[in-house]
This record gives sequence, C-alpha cells and structure tokens, in this order.
Amino acid sequence: MKKFPLVPAIVVTVALFAIGASSFAQGSADTAVGVVQSPVIGRALKDYVPVLRSALDRAWAVDPKEGVETRKVADGVFVVTDGVWQSAFVVTDAGVIVFDAPETYAAKIRAEIAAVTRQPITTLVYTHIHKDHIGGSAAFKDIKGLEIVALTGVAEFLAEKNDPARLKPTRTFDDQVVLARGGTRIELRAAHYHSDEGDLIVYIPRARFLMAIDTLAPGYGPFQGFDITSNFHEYVHVFDALLEYDFDVFVGGHLTHPGNRADVEVAREFTRDVYETVKRVHGQTDLMGVFGETATQIGGFDNKYLLFKRFLDVVTERATAEIEQRWMGRLAGIDVFAEDHVRTALLYVRWDD
Ligand SMILES: [Zn+2]
Repeated sequence: MKKFPLVPAIVVTVALFAIGASSFAQGSADTAVGVVQSPVIGRALKDYVPVLRSALDRAWAVDPKEGVETRKVADGVFVVTDGVWQSAFVVTDAGVIVFDAPETYAAKIRAEIAAVTRQPITTLVYTHIHKDHIGGSAAFKDIKGLEIVALTGVAEFLAEKNDPARLKPTRTFDDQVVLARGGTRIELRAAHYHSDEGDLIVYIPRARFLMAIDTLAPGYGPFQGFDITSNFHEYVHVFDALLEYDFDVFVGGHLTHPGNRADVEVAREFTRDVYETVKRVHGQTDLMGVFGETATQIGGFDNKYLLFKRFLDVVTERATAEIEQRWMGRLAGIDVFAEDHVRTALLYVRWDD
C-alpha cells in the first residue's frame, strides 16, 4: 500500500496564509500553473492517430480461419500468436518445452506443435500468473507426466486460487533454473518487473532467443501503465538486464510480431524518457500554486482530495504532452496510453523515487 498523500491541515492552513489573499487578488497563479482543459484526457476516439505504417508492415498475417500463426524464429524455436498474444515452444531431442498457454488460443497450440514435430510435449513453463498468458493451460491437462515449471510465488498464488483454467505447477524454483533437454539449454531466471508473484526471463543460448513477457510490444509503446506493471522501479531496470543477454529474437508476449535487440533498446529509451520527463515536470510544478489556484476556483481549501488531484493532473497533462510530441512518430499507440504511462511514473516519482 502506498502512503496516501493526504495534505495535512497545517499545510493547507499555511498555504492559505502564504498564497491566499495576494494570489487570489492578482490572479497570477492562473497563468503560472496553466489550468487549462486537458488536450489528452477524454480525447474523442476519432482523434487518435492511426497505427504507424512501420508497425503494420512488420505484423504477422494471422489467417482468421486458423486463428493462430506459428513461425520458426530460430533453430528449433517457434513463436505462436493470434495477433495479440504471443507464446513459444522449443523442440529438443528429448521433447517439446512450451512457454505459456494464452487463454485465447492455448487449445490450438498442441496441433501447431504436432504440425512441426513428432516429439511429445514434456514441459510447460509459466512466465507469470496472469490469466491472459496461462489461462488456457487446461488444454494440456491430459498429457501424462506433464511437467509444469513456475516460480514458487506463482505456484503459491495458483494453489490459493485453485483455478481449473490454470493447471498447478509441478516443479518450482525461487531464483533461477536451467532445463537441459536433449542438448538444448534453457535458462529461466526470476524477475520482478511486472506482476507481484514474479516474472520470468527465458533464454535459449544456442537459439539466441530471449523471452520476457509483458515488457514491451515491438513497434508499439507499452500497454496501459507500462504494461500494468506493479513495480515500476524494477520495470525501468529490466531493459538493462535483457540487453545483457546475447540474443537476436525477442518475445514480449504482445502484439503483432516478435522483436529484436533494437526493439528492447527503444523500449528502454522510451521508459527512461517518460521517467525523466515526469521527474522534471513534477519538480517544476508548484504544488502550493496549484492548490491556491484550484481553491480559488472551488471556493476554498476544504476539498483536499480535489486540490491534490488537480496537482497530479497538471503534472500529467504537461508530461503527457511532451511524451506524445517526442514519441508519436516513433512508436505506435503512444497517444492511446501515454497518459497512463505518465501516471504510473508519477506515482513512482512522487512516492518511491
Ligand atoms: Zn501479465
């Protein structure tokens, strides 16, 4: 639970004395903090820009009749997607290891595997607890002796949930584990950039293949609030950790195609820019000025929630406008979620940083 920024009565009292009468009389605070209607909050649907051509050009075509597309992306490694979610599997001389079972298409994964190998499925790896990525695992239920590998935190959560759609892990670990299967080495390492129970970085060295679900969507900005991260501090740092690996193919779990090193580098640059912009704008925005000006408009300082909301909104509006201006030509979907990214970074900047 984050500390709630309830403005102490004394601060508001001081504010009244400090900026009350003179600011109100002169009305100078209005222009100083720029209380204007937001250009980004509540934008009409028709005003969002189309997806960038550069992102559309990379998209894998998914046959609507099939519902999924499976492609070999490296030696023995295949990515499966329905055009929104992504999972993967690696074929070894000692069976097939599957990474995630998205609820939208997991029922089709076994047929996709059977189309490229006669090796049996031996192992299912869960990257994290989220239903959209593993909520189709019941489709693997009847595989005899299936090993399901996950972090201890993931297994504990699933045991508590007892969700029939998410099979329970059979093998757990806390930090890292190496699966050596038929000459293929698969490294699984715990990370904490996204969900509370833990995330996985999956690496297959011989295939130069790296997977870290819900980090980034190649060609696009992240999904809402840096991919709904519950730990922005770790999220900011995950890209450095990813770039330490030697890889060519990167799977982030979304959206229309896998990525590469350059995509991870751009995601790092974008994340840092949002963080640094929010930090600077937050530092430059005068809290007491916004309070005083808002109080003028609403007739006093009683509604402390509203005073504070106005301050957070002013910072958000200013930072979002900057981010949109710098990034809308580089990544798709920036105008859709820039405000959410800024709000996530703002919680971090104001309360954790
Ligand atoms: Zn997730």
